Amino acid sequence: MIQWSFIGGTSEVTGSRHLLDTGEAKLLFDCGLYQGTRKEADEFNASLGFDPADVDEMVLSHAHIDHCGNIPSMTRKGWRGPIHMTKATGDLVPIMLRDSARIQEADAAYLNQKTSRRGLPQVQPLYTTKDAEAAIPLIQTHHYYQPVPLAGGVELIHVDAGHVLGAGLASLDIPRSGGRPPLRVALAFDLGRYNLPLLNDPVQIEDPDILIVESTYGNRLHAPAANARADLRDAILPPLERGGKALIPCFAFERTQEILFHLAALRDAGELPRVPVYVDSPMAAAITQVFEHNHAYLDPDTRDLQEKHGQVITRDWITFTESIDESKAITASGHPAIVLAASGMCENGRIRHHLKHGIENPRNRIILVGYQAINTLGRRLQNDEKQVYIFGDLFQVKAEVMSLHAFSAHADKLELFRYIRKAHAKHIFLVHGEQESREALAQMLKTNLHSDHVYLPNNGDVVDFEALVS
Ligand SMILES: [Zn+2]
Repeated sequence: MIQWSFIGGTSEVTGSRHLLDTGEAKLLFDCGLYQGTRKEADEFNASLGFDPADVDEMVLSHAHIDHCGNIPSMTRKGWRGPIHMTKATGDLVPIMLRDSARIQEADAAYLNQKTSRRGLPQVQPLYTTKDAEAAIPLIQTHHYYQPVPLAGGVELIHVDAGHVLGAGLASLDIPRSGGRPPLRVALAFDLGRYNLPLLNDPVQIEDPDILIVESTYGNRLHAPAANARADLRDAILPPLERGGKALIPCFAFERTQEILFHLAALRDAGELPRVPVYVDSPMAAAITQVFEHNHAYLDPDTRDLQEKHGQVITRDWITFTESIDESKAITASGHPAIVLAASGMCENGRIRHHLKHGIENPRNRIILVGYQAINTLGRRLQNDEKQVYIFGDLFQVKAEVMSLHAFSAHADKLELFRYIRKAHAKHIFLVHGEQESREALAQMLKTNLHSDHVYLPNNGDVVDFEALVS
């Protein structure tokens, strides 16, 4: 028996969770946080969708919260099994889980302030720092291409997903009865792009029986990754030339390091003035150090930088601020500067302070370099709203707002198609995409690959892979 349960992250892009039951062992693949309306999210995250006591071992694809962020809900219920991942992912996960626990605790404290005023019962955080800490000793790390024996005789190999530092595509060999060769299942929960800076291209897994692949941008094309550096330069120069600041809301993991890498290259080439560059996010600073400690995971094109500077991203002209006082000094300064701060959608983090002090200054420019979800401050700015609330106060948007579209860590529809076509899988399951996006990609595959074996599973579906393939 080879039963695959699609638990979460099928027709949505968060909450990635999959469970394999071989009859002898149960293996969990990813345990991501579902992000949606509070009520839905609370229910789905707290219930997990499976009993952790049944899970023998877990495999993690990468350190994004929508893939790893619900692991502490398992340890909260007493689970203590091994969690397999690459070495770079293993360095990132503690930072991500501690930050996520802090947010869960802060959210609950904020709600409890409100509910206690109304005499309502107190809410508990989904999990706490203690639950996140309990997950960290469970991490077992391996390198790409290193075969990892799992429970039930399953063999795992991670190869580079080209998505974010340490991200792995999994190739699984699952034993079959009757002396038949193992069933090969390939997992591409988040598939990266070709020619991304810092990262290697996604490694092709060939001829699996089953391919389970994401479809986030199954109906979209990105601007080429090769445009990113020039676009960034052209966006940054005008505000600096008129004495303003370039304010860049940035995810602490990967996008910050990617932007810094481009800034370093631009400055080395004499294309960027020598203005201060601030990274105002202690989490981004910690993650940048993880990049510097994992050069073996980076694109070989960065080797000459390693030799020349000893570092790939960090330079002595980049200031990583730790304290709130340092952060306040940046907002108070009237000098031209480049400021990177989390969060990427302007909902949390120190970027809100920089926006509060800089959004009414027409010399400044706010440069959006990531996806802006609906109902976020970032999306309101992207939609050219002229008045926005920050910390409850109304501000006039007088700074320019600009969106750059060459930055994405996910394959677009042509990159997905290229990967899937070259895989030659017998059966293809599309997950991790809004329904519209999955359907568009499924149609493209059916038309161009003439395949009738493309499926769009839903959360809760269980498929017997052995019966499907025989
Ligand atoms: Zn991801």
